Amino acid sequence: MDKLNNNIDRYWIDKNNKPFIISGPCSAESEKQMLDTANKFNKSYVSVFRAGIWKPRTKPGNFEGVGENGLKWLNKVKKNTGLMVATEVANAKHVELCINYDIDILWIGARSTTSPFVVQEIAESLENDNKRIVLIKNPIHPDIELWIGALERLYEKGIKKLGLIHRGFFCYKSLKYRNHPNWDILLYIKKLIPRIPIICDPSHICGNRDRIFDVSIKSIKYFKCDGLMIESHCDPDNAWSDSKQQINPNYLLNFLNKIIDIKKDKGDKYKNEINSLRILIDELDENIISILSERINISKKLGILKKKLNIKTLQPNRWKSVMENSIEIGKNLGISKEFIENIFKLLHKESINIQNKIM
Ligand code: PEP
Ligand code: MN
Repeated sequence: MDKLNNNIDRYWIDKNNKPFIISGPCSAESEKQMLDTANKFNKSYVSVFRAGIWKPRTKPGNFEGVGENGLKWLNKVKKNTGLMVATEVANAKHVELCINYDIDILWIGARSTTSPFVVQEIAESLENDNKRIVLIKNPIHPDIELWIGALERLYEKGIKKLGLIHRGFFCYKSLKYRNHPNWDILLYIKKLIPRIPIICDPSHICGNRDRIFDVSIKSIKYFKCDGLMIESHCDPDNAWSDSKQQINPNYLLNFLNKIIDIKKDKGDKYKNEINSLRILIDELDENIISILSERINISKKLGILKKKLNIKTLQPNRWKSVMENSIEIGKNLGISKEFIENIFKLLHKESINIQNKIM
């Protein structure tokens, strides 16, 4: 890990001392859509124009990308605007085509990072490429070793311009995000590989437009991300994929004007640390509330069954065993008996109230 950390080439991201901004549509749709969007970023804070050419869709029957034509359009964007261009690759053929069309940045998508075979194939097809930057999105599920393993596979094939993209993690039940940020994972990775560039992708974390800028600021200010990948489209509502989360380029540029000096404003180290811990607490609190609502729903179902079977709401033996179990679990996690008792008395009281109403 030390070798990887020491040898990573960070020059591409450090050279302009500003957050590194990648933006562009989720998918390439037409030459006009690409140029209309990219032209907005001419001479702006955006360094890289992105567009997906091969789209990994969860289910068949959706738009799966325009293929090679999109690479022609990306190449034209590069020539017309001077922006660097980026796209997602998922196999050796994609890599070969991207090299032919002089694509500057390749990223491995969240679904591909989950497969060591796919990552290995991509790493081998890029062997000793010292020109391109390769970014690895986190795997769909929060498996840190798999994410770092992908990084190691590329590094072992002589690729040094590397970075990670934090796009959030699938969560079976999520209240406010499409993909949960699990910010603590970023803190862990920063500790393990401090020099690895990390770019936050608030578009795929949020899944809608409401909180993209809030998540962007958190990622740079409190979790030390080096840049952002934000999906934008000249006509976001009519985009062929991820239309809910794409934003108008002008809207993005407005936001960037306000935050571009965020890296210079170091703030108070301890205040920043307090704020980042508070963000972690807020995320956990939201999970606690979501679990409470699941518990309440199950309690209601039990109430209905008890009514049908004419069973009393309060079952002292069951209540005794719930409390004993919980105290034991708490004890193993270093939580005091008194605290568990207080919490579970409240939970139980609420369940009884809910079931009594049903009765
Ligand atoms: C994308 O960037 O459009 C994409 C498909 O992202 P992810 O791999 O993070 O789902
Ligand atoms: Mn997308």
